[in-house]
Amino acid sequence: MALGLPSTMPGGSRTIRELLAAGGRSFSFEFFAPKSEAAEVVFWQTMRELERLQPTFVSVTYGAGGTTRDSTVRVTEGIARDTTLTVVGHLAAVNHSVAELRNVIGQYADAGVRNFLALRGDPPGDPRGEWVKHPEGFEYSEELVRLIRASGDFCVGVAAFPDKHPRSPDLETDARFLARKFQAGADYAITQMFFHADDYLRLRDRVAAAGGDAPIIPGIMPVTNVRQIQHFAVLTGAVFPAALAQRLLAVEGDPEAVRAIGVEVATELCERLLAEGVPGLHFITLNRSTATREIYQNLGVGALS
Ligand code: FAD
Repeated sequence: MALGLPSTMPGGSRTIRELLAAGGRSFSFEFFAPKSEAAEVVFWQTMRELERLQPTFVSVTYGAGGTTRDSTVRVTEGIARDTTLTVVGHLAAVNHSVAELRNVIGQYADAGVRNFLALRGDPPGDPRGEWVKHPEGFEYSEELVRLIRASGDFCVGVAAFPDKHPRSPDLETDARFLARKFQAGADYAITQMFFHADDYLRLRDRVAAAGGDAPIIPGIMPVTNVRQIQHFAVLTGAVFPAALAQRLLAVEGDPEAVRAIGVEVATELCERLLAEGVPGLHFITLNRSTATREIYQNLGVGALS
């Protein structure tokens, strides 16, 4: 299916807010901060491979419990400085005082970062464990949204959950809190991974009904390792379909076959979402480029070199 070239933000000249407001579609890639020298080599190699696809933006997660703060900030600064890419700075409130959060916002801003993703984060150690607010920090991500917006002319995104956040009592309440994040000043949201387009579409409807009117970009996780995704799904509350798990587990010993199914399933999901008029697609790459490049090629959204 040929969909034409994505609208990009060359040189980071426009924020995501401006791009989406102008009717553009965003195509983006998420990475995690490398934890060793060898991992950092792979990270930059993947970044360079995906840079050729001219994504709207890339982003690097702020590790669980704020643990990769230094490496996340360092590589995010590196992307802003040394590549042609627009980078979104992830920032999680967990384990940080407001003063520390201000400091990280300043570091990102000094590197030229104008787009943020404001998150609360999960408790360190056990992500499903008891949430304890930092004594001088924030309880909810909407407070971080306000802080970033008050700190400068920044564009701020937040997290969204088609299968609801594990701590939310029900889907309606979860959607109301997302609408609140938009009312607090968030310009867009990116979702947790999900596998049924209808779950995303229902979230979009619920949030609109709750008064939230900012774009919600679907987060796409191409399955390349079934056990790893099952583990992520447990941690994040995403519903991993049993039929898909069965199909993948049947070929578990053959990584190529697993990837082929993962790419096929993600392509079908992306095609349906694009047909439904989503504002973009955000690919969770796990620092590897192959599956994402294959999906991109299937969708006809970017020239592969
Ligand atoms: P919040 O918006 O604060 O929500 C937390 C819980 O409180 C939810 O149940 C919510 O419904 C509820 N809630 C929200 N506002 C209110 C309110 N005003 N009153 C009462 N209840 C409320 N984590 C990281 O550590 N680093 C990352 O880089 C990172 N990147 C992510 C990227 C994406 C696209 C997504 C979807 C998630 C990411 N996460 C990351 C995970 C995220 O930090 C966790 O899912 C965390 O548990 C919730 O974060 P949040 O920002 O949604 O929190």
